[in-house]
Amino acid sequence: MEGFLEGIWHPLIDNEKCTNCGFCYNYCPKGVFEKNNQNIIVKNPADCVDGCHGCEWKCPGNAISFPKPITKEYVIKVIRWSKAKGRNVSKDFIKYALKNQIIQQDEVSKEMRD
Ligand code: SF4
Ligand code: SF4
Repeated sequence: MEGFLEGIWHPLIDNEKCTNCGFCYNYCPKGVFEKNNQNIIVKNPADCVDGCHGCEWKCPGNAISFPKPITKEYVIKVIRWSKAKGRNVSKDFIKYALKNQIIQQDEVSKEMRD
């Protein structure tokens, strides 16, 4: 999602929860994470893909978050942005937003329809 929340979007690691399992380091295709001695750190935040949540959703320690909280407005913005670009909205993203009651199903349906 280039240009979306540019310069803001990057992962944060909660060191209290992180077990340094290395999953995010191996998973991220953009090289955002780095191994620093035995620790995993966010080395290249600017290379994170705006709107991507891959490492957050897959982190076994639930240790990754992003500086900008996901709001309903943000979900709607992503849907509209994706539609304008002719792209499918990530099913995982919508599932996550619904599960966490950030947005309701009828609101998602309305945005998808309009
Ligand atoms: S995947 Fe999660 S627990 Fe594992 S190193 Fe990354 S932040 Fe830490
Ligand atoms: S959100 Fe995506 S691009 Fe950003 S660090 Fe995680 S896996 Fe890499």
